[in-house]
Amino acid sequence: METTTSLLDAAAAGDLVLLDPLTEQSLLQTLQERFHRGDIYTYIGNVLISVNPYRPLPIYTPEKVQEYHNCNFFAVKPHIYAIADDAYHSLCDRDRDQCILITGESGAGKTEASKLVMSYVAAVSSKGEEVDKVKEQLLQSNPVLEAFGNAKTIRNDNSSRFGKYMDVEFDFKGEPLGGVISNYLLEKSRIVRHVKGERNFHIFYQLLAGGSAQLLQQLKLRQDCRHYGYLNHESSALSGMDDAANFHAMQDAMRVIGFSPAEVTALLEVTAVVLKLGNVQLSSSFQASGMESCSIAEPRELQEICELIGLDPSVLERALCSRTVKARDEAVLTALSVPQGYYGRDALAKNIYSRLFDWLVNRINTSIQVKPGEQRKVMGVLDIYGFEIFQDNGFEQFIINYCNEKLQQIFILLTLKEEQEEYVREGIQWTPVEFFDNSIICNLIENSTGGILAMLDEECLRPGVVNEDTFLAKLNQLFATHKRYESKETQSARHIMDASLPPRCFRIHHYAGKVTYNVTGFIEKNNDLLFRDLSQAMWAARHTLLRSLFPEGDPQKASLKLPPTAGYQFKASVATLMKNLYSKNPNYIRCIKPNETKAAMLFTPELVLAQVRYLGLMENVRVRRAGYAFRQLYGAFLSRYKMLSARTWPRWAGSDRDGAEQVLAELPIPAEELAFGHTKVFIRSPRTLFDLERRRQE
Ligand code: ATP
Ligand code: MG
Repeated sequence: METTTSLLDAAAAGDLVLLDPLTEQSLLQTLQERFHRGDIYTYIGNVLISVNPYRPLPIYTPEKVQEYHNCNFFAVKPHIYAIADDAYHSLCDRDRDQCILITGESGAGKTEASKLVMSYVAAVSSKGEEVDKVKEQLLQSNPVLEAFGNAKTIRNDNSSRFGKYMDVEFDFKGEPLGGVISNYLLEKSRIVRHVKGERNFHIFYQLLAGGSAQLLQQLKLRQDCRHYGYLNHESSALSGMDDAANFHAMQDAMRVIGFSPAEVTALLEVTAVVLKLGNVQLSSSFQASGMESCSIAEPRELQEICELIGLDPSVLERALCSRTVKARDEAVLTALSVPQGYYGRDALAKNIYSRLFDWLVNRINTSIQVKPGEQRKVMGVLDIYGFEIFQDNGFEQFIINYCNEKLQQIFILLTLKEEQEEYVREGIQWTPVEFFDNSIICNLIENSTGGILAMLDEECLRPGVVNEDTFLAKLNQLFATHKRYESKETQSARHIMDASLPPRCFRIHHYAGKVTYNVTGFIEKNNDLLFRDLSQAMWAARHTLLRSLFPEGDPQKASLKLPPTAGYQFKASVATLMKNLYSKNPNYIRCIKPNETKAAMLFTPELVLAQVRYLGLMENVRVRRAGYAFRQLYGAFLSRYKMLSARTWPRWAGSDRDGAEQVLAELPIPAEELAFGHTKVFIRSPRTLFDLERRRQE
């Protein structure tokens, strides 16, 4: 297909690789111009940038699907469907497993993008009763996971509070067979606390708004959100979101996936227990010894919880109000203070919910997994939180940014690898390019001896009083001369006066910028401890699902060693993810949020610029055109530019390659600007390409 558009600049071509000159300003301006024209998609080579339009666009119709189906990537406007199509065809025709990595900050459009990719693939892959069932199941996993894993935040009314990676598996004909979902780091603290203007996870509001009177009675719930301590009272109903309708959609989705009615009931019972735990009130009383202790203030909620889960209320009461401490060989029951009691209660609620979420993901996987033995090809889709730089950054940001640092590393490795492979394939001399290697930062965080995560684990395991100050002091000592680490101590050693670094903080120079982390809460969050009395109480319940979530509560296994820390688990799952991604051909979607107010047509340059930096887009362009900015198959090149030579116009009798060489030989282009591969012509700088275009137009 012949393109009729002019490629005279990057804005028109929709490809930032062609930017000339390449500056942050020109990049930003191009995105802005395109955004205002309604072109939310722009390429950097075959990386897609997507700017959230915050309004429905008529570009996702079945006609559009047809337009992009089997399209020539560069002959149509940049579109997410083109990326999906390219990935799907490489999978089917070239038998290469694919992954689609979607990153961006909260509200930038990652989840919408992942759904567009999935629905595109579902639309263009073949049809039939069996396949359609598989596709339905894969697509319906979304409403279920969103109900339990998404929440309204200040940034996004439907914010994913977990990271998600889904492998979709296909047979040799390209028909979907099933898939596997992995989830990362659910934000479980939201269960017990969220800031004003945000909500808890959708499921609670959905259940109360959409559950029938009979269901609510069975779950011993009241319909009114305001009754529940864990739900924010002011902003429970959300405009534009119909909780009741979503509840029914979620239930339908569970049915499609294959949940039995008993499983759905069990799931909702455990959900109700979490909600009700937040209403268990404690009060303080004084024991005969004069020691303060806590007790259940009002037994009704506790009794109802115990009825739901089949447990003697006195067992739960004891686990909530006291704690068994091993002193020498004796187990002594010690009373908890009221704050300790609440701490335990909240830890229990968070633990039940996050384990329930893991169970849910596993349960979905059981339905969608592919029978072993079948030959398959895989397309992975990663929808994961982007880089975060807030005013206050804690353990969560540290972990999330570590993950992004790893994703950046794999991006560079894979892009360079791909470039290199193309040059080898085409028989062109490859000169290694300079790029910023961020492994120094990855190592700083993840080295198994002496990395920040390892130091944190060491501190958590240390007997006696552990605290964050000793942890920080250790880091400061260890990394006193590290180029990417900064603290008050390293600053003063380097004679830097910097008031912007508060106490109890360290700063890391990430690839995307400097982030200051406050160590407060690092140890508690990394340890993620649940008093053993509570896990034993849960294990003692007759509720099969609930007790299965607390295997460590089995007294037979009471001597089990400490569970791995949160940081350790995350590092391990990131390592598995990286290994998985590295074996696949990557496709990137970089999502950008154009403004803070979710407004259509509003593009705030400063805000976008910050994201251009976090996303490393400048580096992205540089790496993409490390060798040659532009490349095209000889045939396509010749048909576009044959008019530039009297010898090739109107018809050239020789090979496409000879024709292309003929056209270029007649023009004043320095030799180092061009390379002739086996199937493609390569042009080093955008200027040369634009020069060709200008001549073509003249
Ligand atoms: P989070 O990290 O918080 O989960 P996210 O990047 O997944 O954020 P989305 O939930 O995908 O963000 O998008 C936020 C909102 O932006 C959507 O609910 C939708 O209203 C709007 N939006 C995103 N992409 C598009 C699109 N392509 N067309 C129209 N609206 C969109
Ligand atoms: Mg999301």
